[in-house]
Amino acid sequence: MSGSAPVLPGATLGFLGGGQLGRMSALAARRMGYGVAVFDPAADGPASQVADAEVVAPWSDLGALERFAELAGVATIEFENIPAAAAETVAARIPLRPGPEVLRTCQNRERERGFLASRGYPQPDFRIVASAGELADALAELARPCVLKTVESGYDGKGQVKVGPGSGAGAVWQAWGGTRGILEEWVAFELELSVVCARGLDGRTMAFPAAENLHTHHILDLSIVPGRFDAAVEAEARRLAEGIANDLGVVGLIAVEFFLATDGRLLVNELAPRPHNSGHYTLDAALTSQFEQHVRAVCGLPLGDPRLLSPVVMVNLLGDLWAGGEPDWAGLLGDPRVKLHLYGKREARPGRKMGHFCVLDPSLESALAAAGVLRARLLENPGPGR
Ligand code: AMP
Repeated sequence: MSGSAPVLPGATLGFLGGGQLGRMSALAARRMGYGVAVFDPAADGPASQVADAEVVAPWSDLGALERFAELAGVATIEFENIPAAAAETVAARIPLRPGPEVLRTCQNRERERGFLASRGYPQPDFRIVASAGELADALAELARPCVLKTVESGYDGKGQVKVGPGSGAGAVWQAWGGTRGILEEWVAFELELSVVCARGLDGRTMAFPAAENLHTHHILDLSIVPGRFDAAVEAEARRLAEGIANDLGVVGLIAVEFFLATDGRLLVNELAPRPHNSGHYTLDAALTSQFEQHVRAVCGLPLGDPRLLSPVVMVNLLGDLWAGGEPDWAGLLGDPRVKLHLYGKREARPGRKMGHFCVLDPSLESALAAAGVLRARLLENPGPGR
């Protein structure tokens, strides 16, 4: 269902997916006076804890999705890998923003790269491969090293193998174990950056300042804003993100991850049509947070000012930190420039995103130095009672 009238505070906003992105969006919605309903296969997740209503059922339970749609005036998503039938069931009853078509494109690297190619956006060279033979042909065309990725359901580096100079196509294909993949040039990059861009129901776009991102083991570790790159790179990244938001026709947010290659090329790595980990800094350091912007866009309201209020460094808190018990939060908060966000996840597992903290300082260098020291302390010093 579409609709052009704004959904105003007092109405209920429905979230498909109940993780931390849903939680932080739900908190923004509640602050603005909306009710919140969450659909998730797992009970008591980060978003459900702050919701007025939760529907717990598998994605295949279309009846439960219909019940969910009855609770809300408009629905959105907090992760893009929602099965098509689930998204369509909701979209047939209430406006779902972004819509099923956007999800379809962004759920699958082949469709995403195809969309970017059809509009001429710069991206790494790639080939689609569906057999060891096709992989051999593709390897003959792309310079090594390359990376083979699944076309579906891959995130944070899952389902990816790097293909070095010595490896044969047959062995790589077998070890990888997939059925359809995308072979990409391995980009020698100077750094990685991302832009979260909102697009409203009226087609207006608003891009947040770009974040410079540092990954460890394929998972985002730090975001630094402003990023340490030229103003021209910043402007180009925002321009590309706004173009992509328009061309996709997204209503809501689109996060665009880029490589800044050592040869100067700015290449699109991937898209996510939702709030993004690299945009968490906006909660503490921007005039409008990505979560508030998400709510505004999805509800058909005017967008907020995305300007940066302070240099900021965001540090992800992964489950590994809990190996020896609860980390020393009081120690961390001993630095008054720190903003702590914990997602309410009951179980800490290695690699699981449990929370993040931001350090704000008028000097980016000071924020970076403090972030490094504080993180090292969290890793080294057990919390009280350990
Ligand atoms: P992805 O899940 O595709 O975002 O990949 C996770 C991380 O792996 C990226 O943020 C990069 O650090 C790295 N990576 C993925 N694809 C490439 C590539 N084609 N060239 C270089 N690094 C890559």
